[in-house]
This record gives sequence, structure tokens and C-alpha cells, in this order.
Amino acid sequence: MMIQHSIPFSPELEGWWCVILTHQIYLPGPKNKIPFGSFDDLAINITRPDVVHQIGEYDGDPVYTLDATHILASESDLELDEFVGLRSILFEQNELFEFAARAYQVQLFLKTHQYCGQCGSPMQIIDWELATLCEPCKHRCYPRISPVVIVAIRKGSQILLAKNKRSTANIYSVLAGFVESGETLEQAVHREVFEEVGIKVKNIKYVKSQPWPFPHSLMVGFVAEYDSGELNLCDDEIEAADWFEFGEDMPPVPPFKTISRQLIEHTKRLVHK
Ligand SMILES: [Zn+2]
Repeated sequence: MMIQHSIPFSPELEGWWCVILTHQIYLPGPKNKIPFGSFDDLAINITRPDVVHQIGEYDGDPVYTLDATHILASESDLELDEFVGLRSILFEQNELFEFAARAYQVQLFLKTHQYCGQCGSPMQIIDWELATLCEPCKHRCYPRISPVVIVAIRKGSQILLAKNKRSTANIYSVLAGFVESGETLEQAVHREVFEEVGIKVKNIKYVKSQPWPFPHSLMVGFVAEYDSGELNLCDDEIEAADWFEFGEDMPPVPPFKTISRQLIEHTKRLVHK
């Protein structure tokens, strides 16, 4: 699929519209649906932009994104109840909502790359790929993607689950951490696990990945087996962690659409093989 990312605005443009306002998206109507039609069909009063950005195609039609922050015609036109928090819709069974996450990341990229980080000149938006370019010094920027390793560790019939200090809900999950510069994903798994709970793991296997747009992570999911060491929790990050049998005594875990839960379920199948 060839996508022209940055398109001069025209009233004839018709498609799906992901209108982003900071961490929210415009979902009018009772069905909470991303609106379809021409720009003028949008029920909010926003001034016409110079360019729009296409982020994909859905059902044969283009999906566009707009940042509503600067184009609202006036404050009073902001119907806040029709903007919905992105976090609240991310796990709904709705293919279109995957575009919401992408739209948010594209808008964040454009907002944070208006000036060149090398020479300070205003950046131009390139139209054949999603990037910004500084004409004077040729510095080019792409949307930031920050890889995070996330790993479910099993020991016999048990799984290691931990409660993160930053998590306000009483939810136990698998371990996760950002990949550092120059590190392989496998090295990041070994380092994170050792830093967070003090154990060594072996037989690391890739399972799947999931974009996590808060703000620009890519979760890379693995399973691994316990190798050696005693649990020794990192006080700064981990509030509690332990080995759990699958079944009724397991603590509350994240919802099904999260990669964390999918790795837990994957481990459960491995244990019951
Ligand atoms: Zn520059």
C-alpha cells in the first residue's frame, strides 16, 4: 500500500478522520465511532488546515489525522464530551482504534519536531514518508520508537509475577523494561530481569510484539525459563514479586488484549503441555 503521508488540504478529501486533542480523540455519536466523510462533515467547528496526514487505509478509504489543538475555531467549539481518552479505547475490539494510537504518535512526532535539533532551523515535513527534514543542514527525523522488552518467566509449573511501584491498581504483571542503546533484545531481557528481581534466566524465546503509544513504545514480548538465583527485588521499581501457580490463587493480572496477559496465557499453555 503506497501512502502519501502529507497531503495538501482539499475540501474533496474523504475518509476516516482521527482528530487528536492531546491525549484524546474525537469520537462523536452514540457508537463512539471514528467519523467518516469529508472534512466539512466533521461536526466540530475547526478551521481548515493547510495539510493533513494520512496514516493508512481502512476498508478501502484513507485514514487521516489532524491535531485539533491549534485549529479549533474557538474555545467554545470544543465539545469536550465528544473527545475520549486514548487509554480508555486502546483495548476495545475495534480495528479502527488501532489508527487512533498511530494518529496520536504521528501528531506527537509533528509537534515535537518543528525545529531542527542540530541547527535550530524550522523543519519541513517530507511528503513521501513520515519524516521531517532541515533544509539548511539536511538533518532528518523520524517518529521515535522506543523498544521495551517484556518477558514472562516460568519455573516448573510456576510463573513470576510482579507488582510495579508505579502501578496504582493492585495488578501483577510480567517484567518489562526499556532497551538501552547498543543492547540486543536478549541482553536487555537478561539485564532487566537481573536488575528488577535478581535472578538469571535462560531459553529466551520471542513470542510477539505490541505497539504501546504512551508515548512511543514498542513492546517486544518473550518467554524465558528460570535459570538461577534467589528473588531479590529492586526497591525503586518492584513493590512485590513471587512465583505463582496458575489457578485460583493467582493475583489480578492485566486484561486480555495486553501483551502482558498474552504472555501469561502463553506461559500457561507451556506449563500445561
Ligand atoms: Zn538543521
